[in-house]
Amino acid sequence: MIVTDPNLIDKRLRRSALSASTSKSMRGCLVRWAGEKLLPRVSDPFAVSELGTSTHAVLEDLYNANAPTRTTDLFAELRDEHSKKQWSLERYQSLPDNLGPEGVPVEFNEWVKNQDRWKSEVDRLGLRTFEIEDPRETVVYKTELPFDGVTIAGGVPAMGYIDRVDIEIVRGEERFVVVDLKTGKQKSAFDLNRYGDDHGDQIRIYYDAIRALLGVAPAAGRIHYTQFGTSREIPLTELALEKTRKDFRAAWDIHNRVTENGRFPAKTGPLCGWCPLVNACPAAAAAGKKASDKLDTPPATAVALGIPTVRTDAIAMGSKEPYAPAPAPLVTAATAARSIAAAPASPPVAPTAEVAPADPFAASAPAPAPIVAPAPAVAPVIAFPVAAAQGAAHGAGDNADPNGTGTPTVTNEQPLFSEGKPWEPTINGRLNGASYSAMGVIGLTQVAGELLVEAGRPLNGQTLDQLTDLLAEVIVTVQKSVRNGDFDWDAGINTRIRGALRTTIETLPLPWDATTEDAWVEWKAKAIKRTRVFVVRAIRLYNLGDTVTATSFSALLPVGVAASAPVAAPVASPSVVAAATPIGVPRVAQPA
Ligand code: SF4
Repeated sequence: MIVTDPNLIDKRLRRSALSASTSKSMRGCLVRWAGEKLLPRVSDPFAVSELGTSTHAVLEDLYNANAPTRTTDLFAELRDEHSKKQWSLERYQSLPDNLGPEGVPVEFNEWVKNQDRWKSEVDRLGLRTFEIEDPRETVVYKTELPFDGVTIAGGVPAMGYIDRVDIEIVRGEERFVVVDLKTGKQKSAFDLNRYGDDHGDQIRIYYDAIRALLGVAPAAGRIHYTQFGTSREIPLTELALEKTRKDFRAAWDIHNRVTENGRFPAKTGPLCGWCPLVNACPAAAAAGKKASDKLDTPPATAVALGIPTVRTDAIAMGSKEPYAPAPAPLVTAATAARSIAAAPASPPVAPTAEVAPADPFAASAPAPAPIVAPAPAVAPVIAFPVAAAQGAAHGAGDNADPNGTGTPTVTNEQPLFSEGKPWEPTINGRLNGASYSAMGVIGLTQVAGELLVEAGRPLNGQTLDQLTDLLAEVIVTVQKSVRNGDFDWDAGINTRIRGALRTTIETLPLPWDATTEDAWVEWKAKAIKRTRVFVVRAIRLYNLGDTVTATSFSALLPVGVAASAPVAAPVASPSVVAAATPIGVPRVAQPA
């Protein structure tokens, strides 16, 4: 999609600082991101996002109250107060055409009856916070802590509001703890691996923001899933923090490029069915994506929205503001920490609303759809390039601009890979071919290919993917088990685990003769166990240092053969080992 009005870009799309949610959006479909900001919406108190905001507001008031009073009774009182405002006559009169939640005009007496349903929704989404913790025992430093204008991730201006910063005693000291509340559900381990950990990234961005703002790093970060009564501790290791910082910098670069050149690339995916633009989007049509039948109202079409299709060589008008990329140098964790600590106070940056501001199509007639159809302007301000209507946005003959690089749209195919430093897994959303991550994933598909050919099995996309996924799951599971849930293809331990898996495959043959899938499931479980053993038993060896002595061989005798004479010397006990570990070789944690 191209936006041809630079004023619209500067007023509605361009950000002066990056929030965690915009950073996440930069990795997804930029047509959807821009479209949701540009097109007006009808308020629906039962929409998922609005119910989430309402529940947040009730919980914020709860935690702002005196600690001893934070009970379920107070929650109910606060919810009722918010309900009165939400369903007031004043609010009703501000609605366009007095629309009810289903987009149908209703009288006030009917409309106000929705409040009981609304209250039970807020209860459903928020009350289980009492299962996560006792709010009376929580020491709150601040709710909705703003951090406008701080510079993090090696030079990216950041903004946002942190739901809660608590104070907890950690190892005898009072420390900050970041808490974010989510009314949605936690991602499964599978989805975390596949789609990334945007919730974790959000907490890690807050971690850096608090360090920049308050001068002290938080001791921990958590997400409370208040609908489900669960909490998730977010890894704050330097490795995880550094990866989040890299992604944040990349997102800022994408934001700056697309707002500069006015071209917003489409990216089809599983969420297209829920996208308010799906019935207007040529890329979705080309990919066979349809509006979900679970939507209350069908999304508007391109005609209704007044979005024309134009030639691919149409001139996009980007921002009037100069392009301001994130500082390029890759900073290490240590230099990032130094630069954050030493950062001069940044000038305040105007808060950037994440919700769509005033309607630029105010003169238009509303359509009976969540997105109100604007009357087409004399000169269209946004348009879909014709090529997107003719073919897939990411297929052959791709005329879109997947990374907003401003590359001419007709002739250039976008490369699949970028090139950079080995420690940068991705650059502008493309896998860096020189990275440790690329070595890991490409090496693994090669292994899968070799195994298939050795076994005399067909080598095609399906067989290659299935075997690669099996091997990858072994690696991911083992790595997470030894890194407190962290996973990265570029981690050093990932390389070691891949080596261990090679040995597992040699010593535990793949079940090529199996006639059911159960044997493969069984192999996977055994392979995880065996690969992990290779990795964690090595810690014992490390701890022995140069005190290792081979004095007993009984375990090496054939099964059933008793050991001969008593061994010459006992195997060193753990305490002896600890004492005997040579100077300069610190003992490391060993699994039980
Ligand atoms: S339908 Fe899909 S590709 Fe089209 S704008 Fe929405 S999310 Fe993007």
